[in-house]
Amino acid sequence: MTVTLLAHTDNPSKVVASAARLCYSASRADELFDGLDEARTAEFLKKLRDVGHMSPFEHASFTFAVDGLSRVASHQLVRHRIASFSQQSQRYVTMSSSRESVIVPPTVERTPEAAELFAAQGAAAYMAYERLIELGVPKEDARFILPHGWTTSLMITMNARELHHFFSLRLCRRAQWEIRRMASEMLRLVYDAAAELFVIAGPSCLTDGKCREASSCGSPFKNIEELLAGAT
Ligand SMILES: Cc1cc2nc3c(=O)[nH]c(=O)nc-3n(C[C@H](O)[C@H](O)[C@H](O)COP(=O)(O)OP(=O)(O)OC[C@H]3O[C@@H](n4cnc5c(N)ncnc54)[C@H](O)[C@@H]3O)c2cc1C
Repeated sequence: MTVTLLAHTDNPSKVVASAARLCYSASRADELFDGLDEARTAEFLKKLRDVGHMSPFEHASFTFAVDGLSRVASHQLVRHRIASFSQQSQRYVTMSSSRESVIVPPTVERTPEAAELFAAQGAAAYMAYERLIELGVPKEDARFILPHGWTTSLMITMNARELHHFFSLRLCRRAQWEIRRMASEMLRLVYDAAAELFVIAGPSCLTDGKCREASSCGSPFKNIEELLAGAT
C-alpha cells in the first residue's frame, strides 16, 4: 500500500489558530492571520485541544492518494462520512491480475499451505472474471466473482477535525490491521506537514488516558512517537 499526501491547506496550523482566535477577539477576521507567530499559534492550538473546541480544525484540509488498499479496508474507510472520497470504479476499469492485485493478510502469508490456497483461489476467481467478460458479461457484473482482497485506489480528503476522529478510531491497537497501517501512514504525513495540529492525536488511551474499547488490548500508547514509529 502506498499513501501520499497530495495537497493541503496553506499554513494549516496558522489557519486553524486564527479561526480560533477570531472566536475570542474583537479584531476583524482578516487582521488575525498576520498577527500570529509560531509560538502563539502553538499556544492556541494546545488550548483548543485541551478544551475540546475542535471546530476550528475544520478549516484545514488534507488530500491523500492511496493505492494498493484492499476493498476490505476501503469498505471500512468509506464509513467515515465527514471525509470526501473518489474511488477507482470496477464498473469502468478492468481489474488487473498482477501479483499486487490482491492483498494477502500476514496471517495467511505465514503458513505455506494457507498462502497456496489463497493464491489458487484468487487466480481461479480472476480467470472466471476474465472469462465472464469474454462471454459478454459487463465488468460491473463480472466483478461480483472477485475476492474482497482485490486492491483499489482512492483519493481522500479529510479536514483536521475528521482526521483526529479517524486517528482516534483507526490507530487503536484493536482496529483492523490494514486500515490501521493506512491511518499510521496518514498520521506520519500530516505530522510532517503540520505537527502543531497533530501533536495530540491517536486513540483515547493516548489522548485521554483511558480506553474506550469494550475489551482493552492492555497495552496503552505512551506517546505520539510510538504511533509515528508505526508500533504494532
Ligand atoms: C474497531 C471498529 C469496529 C467496527 N465494527 C463495525 C461493525 O461491526 N459493523 C458496522 O456496521 N460498523 C463497524 N464499525 C464502523 C463504525 O460503526 C463507524 O461507521 C465508523 O467507524 C465511522 O465512524 P463515525 O461514524 O464516528 O465517523 P464519521 O462518519 O466520519 O463521522 C464523524 C462524526 O460525525 C458525527 N456524525 C456523522 N454523521 C452523523 C449523523 N448522520 N448523525 C449524527 N452524527 C453524525 C458523529 O459524531 C461521528 O462520530 C467499526 C469501527 C471500528 C473502529
